[in-house]
Amino acid sequence: MLLMGFDVGGTKIEATLFRLSEKNEKHAQGGSFECAHPSRGKLFGETLARLREPTERHKGYDSIIEKMARLVKETCAAAKIPTVQLNGIGFGLPGSIDPRTFKMLNGNTMVLIDRDLVGDVRRQASLPESVVLRAENDANCFALAEALCGAGLLHEKKTGLPVQEHTAVGIILGTGCGGGIVIQGRTVRGARGGGGELGHTVLYRDGHQCYCGQSGCAEQYLSGPALESLMTTRHYSQLGSSFLSAKEIFEKASAGDPAALAVLKRYKSDLGRFLGSLTSVFDPHYFVLGGGLSLQPSLYENLSETLAQNTFLPGSLIPVYQHQLGDSAGGLGAALLAL
Ligand SMILES: [Zn+2]
Repeated sequence: MLLMGFDVGGTKIEATLFRLSEKNEKHAQGGSFECAHPSRGKLFGETLARLREPTERHKGYDSIIEKMARLVKETCAAAKIPTVQLNGIGFGLPGSIDPRTFKMLNGNTMVLIDRDLVGDVRRQASLPESVVLRAENDANCFALAEALCGAGLLHEKKTGLPVQEHTAVGIILGTGCGGGIVIQGRTVRGARGGGGELGHTVLYRDGHQCYCGQSGCAEQYLSGPALESLMTTRHYSQLGSSFLSAKEIFEKASAGDPAALAVLKRYKSDLGRFLGSLTSVFDPHYFVLGGGLSLQPSLYENLSETLAQNTFLPGSLIPVYQHQLGDSAGGLGAALLAL
């Protein structure tokens, strides 16, 4: 099976072509991986080609469609595969996706809202009806790929419990805070496509104003920019020091800077509280974290313990894994939708 996955964000569009097979055929090119698919069983995958373009959303919707159609052709050409041989293409988009029309209902990349992106790419790239097209929220794609091909396999190895029996929750801590829920190998989309918008569950009632219209959303406390502004407002504004990036805050903390340590203590307490609340809803077998902040090893220190202090059900600690698939999870999860 030849499947392409698009990871469409506000700044870049990435297309990756994958080959998935039931037999382990070793090919020379690309990276290889395994997946435990809920209906197809064990699959062996390899990455054949990956291309990336800037989104340039200021140029408008038509320019984005043109780029995506070109990426379909160029990614296939890079792997020397005719586009008509594609079995399917999945699009991971930055918003809630209507599960019937695949239109994006909301999100911060306004130019994509309520547009027939799937149909327009099909027309622009002249893709025949035989090529299956699907779209899904990007964080749901991340969670799906990690659950089937990444963290889920790690958890299976550690516990012996098969991937198909896991309840998994994926959280992306980056420019925003996204979430995805995978139960027994399937993404929870909900009735209208808004399932898994975990970053917009309320962490502090009457807390910081969120762009979504609510106040106190988890995203306002757990995204990279939220961490940076906590550092700026809490500790450095009085001292006249300049802005620090999230990465610099972690570096300062590991060097023993008391202000950075205090800010991270607060951040990790919020994260533990957030995961604890989600545990009371889903009681997952594990959490998996993605996004820029998830790369910081110190984030995971005592996180399961903090989580346990903030949830209803006592008992064994719930593991919080770092993502296993790196940057490719979004594209792979999108591709898996079209399977
Ligand atoms: Zn919100």
